[in-house]
Amino acid sequence: MTESSAPSSCDVIIVGAGPAGLTAATAAATAGAKTVVFERQNEIGYPIHTSGASWISDMREFDVPEHLYHPVDRAVFFSPTEELDISYPGASCVLDIRGVYQYLAERAIAAGATIALRHRVDQPLLDSGRVTGVGFRDHTGQANELRAPVTIDASGYSRTVSNRSGLAPEFHRYAFGAEYDLYAPNYPQDTAYFIMGSQLAPNGYAWLFARGKGRVRVGVGVIHPDTKSDPRTYLQRVIRMPQLANQLRGASPVEYHTGLFPSEPPAKRLWAPGLLLAGDSGAQGSTFIGEGIRFAMYAGRMAGEVAAKVSTQSEGSVKTLNDYDRQWHKQFGRDLDLSYFFNQRIAAFSDDRWDAVLKTLSQLSNKQILQLLRCEFTPQLFMGIATRVPSILAKGSRSLIKSALRRSKG
Ligand SMILES: Cc1cc2nc3c(=O)[nH]c(=O)nc-3n(C[C@H](O)[C@H](O)[C@H](O)COP(=O)(O)OP(=O)(O)OC[C@H]3O[C@@H](n4cnc5c(N)ncnc54)[C@H](O)[C@@H]3O)c2cc1C
Repeated sequence: MTESSAPSSCDVIIVGAGPAGLTAATAAATAGAKTVVFERQNEIGYPIHTSGASWISDMREFDVPEHLYHPVDRAVFFSPTEELDISYPGASCVLDIRGVYQYLAERAIAAGATIALRHRVDQPLLDSGRVTGVGFRDHTGQANELRAPVTIDASGYSRTVSNRSGLAPEFHRYAFGAEYDLYAPNYPQDTAYFIMGSQLAPNGYAWLFARGKGRVRVGVGVIHPDTKSDPRTYLQRVIRMPQLANQLRGASPVEYHTGLFPSEPPAKRLWAPGLLLAGDSGAQGSTFIGEGIRFAMYAGRMAGEVAAKVSTQSEGSVKTLNDYDRQWHKQFGRDLDLSYFFNQRIAAFSDDRWDAVLKTLSQLSNKQILQLLRCEFTPQLFMGIATRVPSILAKGSRSLIKSALRRSKG
């Protein structure tokens, strides 16, 4: 590849260098496929459109070095009149987004992938309904084309390739988030806050995530079109909450982020001829709390491996493509399906309902709450909750629990 113009051919094209695209690139290149990643931005991991809360075990699974994430051992939940404080050492973390994504990029390059920065993919190339490559503009604005047997759409919320090829519609329901990254010298660096209620985050929630060295991300996310509220107008209210006065004393913003996250049911099929979806473009995140980074990494890894295989097959690729669906749904189908099921309900909770939820959560073990936050919706979890809080079965939540149990077994 000369300077930043793309090669004339390759085995796997990846659109987007976020966590999905970069893990896909490493997997495809490691499997021997000539892999090119197009990224429209000038830099990997910029601009930031995420809060970066994640899980230490998953970062270890991808060998992300420890200095690129900050452990958070405690969570405090606020509803309009209730408060709950739990601790779970060693489980969760907040990522140095630019650091982690650039690390993933370095790994992809080391595996043999080429990353074309400031290259924007404009449209898919189609041949009898099959995606055969992409049309793009390079860093000088020059239009060009690249063909490959397989393209992975890892373009995030915009799902550029799948949408423009007519293979997947635009997202209709989505979380809209706005966030400050503050320097807050008095903020407890082991703590995350989750804040629910109509005055601070209608049809959504607000958060504070410590990210080390005096920094904290403070954000508000709401679900559109469930509400028309603009999360940007609620940020100052959160920052001025009396309960946070000490923690945010002397704080001031260093960065400002906004972003969109699909809040739609998980896609049943994650491929079309010549195309795989990975990450947000395939709605592969958890809508329960708006978490997508680790899911994007797992999706990217699976999609990259499958794409490398498909690129060498002249026939029989449908079976391999189906394997991607099967593998994904086996590992995450139940949890993401239930995430969406719960998301639709909690997005409509009243203030009273949130108060009741916090009272219920206070009767659960920290481990159970952690499992809920991780969206690991096993039948054992629901049985355990019903055992600890038998009243839940008599308070209108019976059908919810029953339905969740049915889904978790299915
Ligand atoms: C406000 C907010 C807060 C969030 N907080 C968290 C959190 O705390 N924890 C968590 O796990 N998840 C969080 N998420 C979700 C998380 O950010 C996403 O799930 C994750 O970024 C998905 O990764 P991805 O690789 O699929 O897409 P993205 O990270 O969106 O990456 C897509 C890449 O494709 C590039 N691209 C797009 N179109 C083109 C094109 N036409 N040509 C070339 N390149 C293109 C983009 O520039 C981008 O780099 C949050 C989301 C929002 C909106």
